[in-house]
Amino acid sequence: SLPVVAIVGRPNVGKSTIFNRLAGERIAIVEDQPGITRDRIYSRSEWNGREFHLIDTGGLEFGEQDEILDHIRNQAELAIEEADVILFVVDGRDGMTPTDQEVAEMLHRSNKPVVLMVNKIDNFKHSNDAFEFYQLGFEYVIPTSSIHGTGTGDMLDAVVSYF
Ligand code: GDP
Ligand code: MG
Repeated sequence: SLPVVAIVGRPNVGKSTIFNRLAGERIAIVEDQPGITRDRIYSRSEWNGREFHLIDTGGLEFGEQDEILDHIRNQAELAIEEADVILFVVDGRDGMTPTDQEVAEMLHRSNKPVVLMVNKIDNFKHSNDAFEFYQLGFEYVIPTSSIHGTGTGDMLDAVVSYF
């Protein structure tokens, strides 16, 4: 079976934008368990001849801060269970947040390979904004702009290097 890459991160960082950029055929799955709704979309994608399944988690919208945190925890757990490689997306304009640090800790505990994508670096002059995220302790920290497509090739090279 194909390697699975799950996209994880807090709301509004650009997860769905990068997913849509990379996605081929899509399959939507919503799974209800007591107290938890796990929604995700799978697609089949490819980079340099390497095929993989991509999962976009967290399409739901929430109003309350604690619901957002619970949702991100569920999302990260789901990714940890199912993924071979985790694509952890943060917002390079906002800078590092406590939620980013919390997600990073969960991902480290999983021992799965993680590529950290510092998104919304639309102007290359701002690529230094990605440096602070090296503190989170992942090998690959890649500045990207999902809307322009810059950096996404480097990000995918890092992802497939873990297959
Ligand atoms: P998600 O909640 O993590 O799935 O985030 P979305 O993909 O829905 O994106 C949230 C918002 O950020 C949308 O308005 C996107 O157009 C915007 N966005 C995503 N990627 C970028 C980027 O690289 N640069 C900028 N400036 N905006 C972006
Ligand atoms: Mg989304």
